[in-house]
Amino acid sequence: MKVAVEEAQRKLSVYMRERGLKHTRQRDQILEAFFAAGGHVSIDDLLGQVQERMAGVGYATVYRTMKLFSEAGVAHERHFDDGQSRYEPVVDDEHHDHLICTTCGTIFEFEDPIIEKRQSDIATAHGLRVVHHRHEIYGSCIAPDACRHRARPT
Ligand SMILES: [Zn+2]
Ligand SMILES: [Zn+2]
Repeated sequence: MKVAVEEAQRKLSVYMRERGLKHTRQRDQILEAFFAAGGHVSIDDLLGQVQERMAGVGYATVYRTMKLFSEAGVAHERHFDDGQSRYEPVVDDEHHDHLICTTCGTIFEFEDPIIEKRQSDIATAHGLRVVHHRHEIYGSCIAPDACRHRARPT
């Protein structure tokens, strides 16, 4: 993940420079907190972690910064069925799809070459070249004790 954050820093500073935006320490800190948090964080999740590094950063700042990161191509904004915007770091040449438990909200990632191949064959059959796609499967954890919501703390 260390390599990925450095790549993101580079990508972001190119983006900022092209638009004449100033480089700020605060934005760096938010980027680092975001990459350290891993995948699928909401603004609320991230806010707590940003505040651990820098007290006094508000929701609006984190919100605006994450929008900027999406535009700069260092964050993917995801909208799953819970209605919250979630963000995950962009790792070049990496693609995955998601499975979401509608009971506990756990988000799993998967990549299946057969599904990927089928999707692009289907697109080709319709005269399309795939630019990107989103594949989300909603389900419910089968084992009750695997489900964070249903699991009873011992
Ligand atoms: Zn993901
Ligand atoms: Zn579950």
